[in-house]
Amino acid sequence: MKSRLRTLRPLFMIAALIAALIAPASVSAVTVKQVALTFDDGDSELHIRQAVAIAVATQTPITFFPTGKSLRRFPNLWKAIGDAGIPIANHTVNHPNLNERYALKGSANVRAELQGFINIARTNNIPVVPYWRPPGGAWNANVMKVAKSLGLTLSLWTNTFADTAPMCKNRTIVAYNKATAGTEAKVVVLGHVNPYTAQTVKLLAAVIANYDSRGYQFVTIPEMVKGTPNTIDWAKAALAVSAPAISPTGARVPTSVPTPIDHTNTKYTFAQANGITCR
Ligand SMILES: [Zn+2]
Repeated sequence: MKSRLRTLRPLFMIAALIAALIAPASVSAVTVKQVALTFDDGDSELHIRQAVAIAVATQTPITFFPTGKSLRRFPNLWKAIGDAGIPIANHTVNHPNLNERYALKGSANVRAELQGFINIARTNNIPVVPYWRPPGGAWNANVMKVAKSLGLTLSLWTNTFADTAPMCKNRTIVAYNKATAGTEAKVVVLGHVNPYTAQTVKLLAAVIANYDSRGYQFVTIPEMVKGTPNTIDWAKAALAVSAPAISPTGARVPTSVPTPIDHTNTKYTFAQANGITCR
């Protein structure tokens, strides 16, 4: 046995050397596929915490697009998330359709929605990144001009958790299928952290496993769009999961990862995931 090992060892070393010589060339020749998991609105404190908990447990970079209203409701939670390096980007203050706002009230009103988000973040010392996502994905050239004047870069999505559709219309694990349908080199998945989007966080670990198995690299939006490397501090992110919502002196809110939904169970409905009875 010993002598066999001795003869094999040099072979391993040669194999390792060859692998090391080949690796740099093969890595640069292959386009790395990237996926950014994004979570909008932030109307549910629990689901915000659970999304971060799963990101921490799997060390998966994520990006948030909360409203300014959510920043105002949970300022210390958002500060802790932002301080951990998880990007927080602009989704307006009140979530209006910006095209309609522009048509009805003009550019100043659109500007107030986007600048207002920045102001709320500044007042609460919440670090934010200069990206924006218009509510409902509604934007036009006029709205874009306002966003650009504030130095904001547009970030839409390619795939979604389908978690804004009516819950009682035969909504089953379609969320998993839609979220994992991305095959492009750059996939952006849209989900929500709202009161009735429990299925999204309950399917998140499975969605992460799916992209991982297909060789996708997980990135934040600034990383995907401009190559800005993410600097997520996972120890800080772990603390953010239970950070007091309003004031740093408030009580911590210990939160564990949600019980996952079996994504192969085609009978499990969104309503069940949210504890709702449909008639
Ligand atoms: Zn939204």
